[in-house]
Amino acid sequence: MFRTAIAGSLPKPEWLAETHKLWPQWKAQGDALLHAKADATLLWVKLQEDAGLEVIGDGEQARQHFVHGFLEQVEGIDFEHKVKMGIRNNRYDAMVPQVVAPLRLKGRVHAFEAQLTRAHTQKKIKFTLPGPMTIVDTVADRFYGDKVKMAMAFAELLNQEALALQADGVDIVQFDEPAFNVYMEEAADWGVKALERAAQGLTCTTAVHICYGYGIQANIDWKNTLGHEWRQYEKVFPALAKSSIDQVSLECFHSHVPPDLMKLLEGKDVMVGVIDVASDEVETPEQVADTIGQALQFVPKKHLIACTNCGLAPMDRAVAEAKLKALADGAKLAAKRYG
Ligand SMILES: [Zn+2]
Repeated sequence: MFRTAIAGSLPKPEWLAETHKLWPQWKAQGDALLHAKADATLLWVKLQEDAGLEVIGDGEQARQHFVHGFLEQVEGIDFEHKVKMGIRNNRYDAMVPQVVAPLRLKGRVHAFEAQLTRAHTQKKIKFTLPGPMTIVDTVADRFYGDKVKMAMAFAELLNQEALALQADGVDIVQFDEPAFNVYMEEAADWGVKALERAAQGLTCTTAVHICYGYGIQANIDWKNTLGHEWRQYEKVFPALAKSSIDQVSLECFHSHVPPDLMKLLEGKDVMVGVIDVASDEVETPEQVADTIGQALQFVPKKHLIACTNCGLAPMDRAVAEAKLKALADGAKLAAKRYG
């Protein structure tokens, strides 16, 4: 049997927030918002279990965005005066908060949804945090004046929250580092070190998710410029293979990533993307099993985890539900074929 998990995010129901957006506005405030976040989290826990997934997540229902959800609990950041900044090497503009003073956590960031998820499933749970390099690429620096120094400061805060999540009963802490696929040299040079600092002292399973981004137009346009072979992973995988991180997530289905790059992750668990997040077309179990079969040429069975290419946040809820089912059914079919 192949293990199954999602990358992280799932669509927010229309009663919680605006749909089909990466930075959606909430539909309620105060206690009503907290209740709506809890209800949406429980809904997705149930739907992931019903689909037959093995590892369950909170679907990131309680945070507005995967990076800014963390930053909201950090002191030293000015959210009042956001500035427009080109992010992911100017692939698209975002309104980002500014770092204006030494960074410190105000308190716990994700205790509410992590404990809620833990209380409502017997399965393993995975919890996602943004990686230090990706955070640094999603805020404006008016204080540190040095990217690496600021990344290490964020890594310390991430580490505090990660250790607390582990104490909450989280089985897998995953850091999302889409920036690794944009700044490949820097990722191999200091990005992996910052990541290891964020994961320092964790005894639960640790993971990193590296992708080509959500299925939004700016990312689709960017992917069209990357040519026939996407070799970005080639630079950072050797550094990750030597690192303390246990699992690495990558895009596979419908991507132009040469599958043999997975060989560079020898010894690691590989979360193979078998579900496309940039298309509403729902994969068949046969397609999912085929992708798993292809990955098996380069990843030993015991190290292969079937996963989505990226988060499903901006998708239609019904499409996302169908894709979860395709993921689980495809993994079952693959177990029959290759087991
Ligand atoms: Zn992603």
